[in-house]
Amino acid sequence: MRFVKKEVNTTPIEDTVFVIVEKAAKAKVQYGKEKVVDATIGSLYDEEGKLVAFDSGFDPYNEIPKETKAKYAGSFTGNPAYRNQVADWLIGNIDCRLKHSVIATPGGTGAVNITISECLDQGETVILPQIAWGSYQLMATMANLKTKSYTLFEGDHFNLKSFQETCSEVMAQQEKLVIVINDPCHNPTGYSLSKEEWQEVIRFLNDCAKQVPVVLLNDIAYIDYAYDTAHSRDYMEQFNAIGENVVVVIAFSCSKSLTSYGLRCGAALILGQNEADVRGVEVVFEKAARATWSNIANAAMDNFTYVTTENLAEYTNEKDGYVKLLKERSDIFTKEACEAGLPCYPYKEGFFVTIRMESNEQRDRYHEALMNELIFTVKVNLGIRVAVCSLSINDCKGLAKRMKTILDTCQ
Ligand code: PLP
Repeated sequence: MRFVKKEVNTTPIEDTVFVIVEKAAKAKVQYGKEKVVDATIGSLYDEEGKLVAFDSGFDPYNEIPKETKAKYAGSFTGNPAYRNQVADWLIGNIDCRLKHSVIATPGGTGAVNITISECLDQGETVILPQIAWGSYQLMATMANLKTKSYTLFEGDHFNLKSFQETCSEVMAQQEKLVIVINDPCHNPTGYSLSKEEWQEVIRFLNDCAKQVPVVLLNDIAYIDYAYDTAHSRDYMEQFNAIGENVVVVIAFSCSKSLTSYGLRCGAALILGQNEADVRGVEVVFEKAARATWSNIANAAMDNFTYVTTENLAEYTNEKDGYVKLLKERSDIFTKEACEAGLPCYPYKEGFFVTIRMESNEQRDRYHEALMNELIFTVKVNLGIRVAVCSLSINDCKGLAKRMKTILDTCQ
């Protein structure tokens, strides 16, 4: 393709999710809604099959004057009140002793993207989880970066050994580490690291930092759906122990926290031991922001600030109801999966449960067999993703057993 730059991958995106979503929609028309299990949709849906858009988030948004919506943001780094409130939302209730700065970004995507593309040079390698949100790989490809993956689990626990080996291999070849950990509520397995696992990770990264600078990118897109909401940020206190040669970037997303996927609002929270290092990252992130999206929607930022302060009680009450619902759905699915012997990755909390597959060949056969029985799911690396976030309690009941029966026919 002669019209685009030479150093770009021109293979079209294979949108596997969209194709299956379409198939599920057609099946509903053909066979009737009640016969189809549509576990493809990765947004929160209510029990009536409707997309959830929090009243506590959108009623105030609808009251915002049009001039506020029309206006540019107060700064390229985000509105000052928003930047403060994001920091408060994430680290305000824990003992965080690190220097920090917040840059507003279009969703969590913007925060993940600037970190991956601005912290590494072309040809270098970013470290990703082996089972992961697909956009990480795409971001790396677009920035002409290579990727290396760590195996996520050893049995039912975080695979620290693989994590360490992968970091060591990359460190032997380049003079920096940029590592993505999507936690808590990992997409798509629903795993969350324990405090001890985080401690081990930090201890190891501090060792690595004796040789090279380390950037830990902690993608927390689903954090506000952690089942123990009050303590969901406690693990971040482990970050106090990072060495001077480590920076943590937390990628936050209002998309899930406020069910406002389309408003494109999020943030990168940069944490480090030294003011100068945090400022150094902030300067580059600000320039990247200004050069790519310029500024974030003024009203979306103001709305987050209002909802999570003045409207906090209403918001918490509404969101907690859905977190409870999500837990009910996932409890049913995982309990029945365990009883039926359907192998799942270790789910703790979050939007998705993922069935463990031995190979991607087996996964493809299974995925097809499920569709033949009108169960629509999404293929992920070495797994089949079941979006409990959009399945009703009724849909969840009996599903694992059915899926196990189908699995037995395509081993
Ligand atoms: N990180 C993960 C793991 C996700 O699944 C998503 C969205 O699906 C995001 C980040 C970013 O979402 P957004 O850009 O809408 O905030």
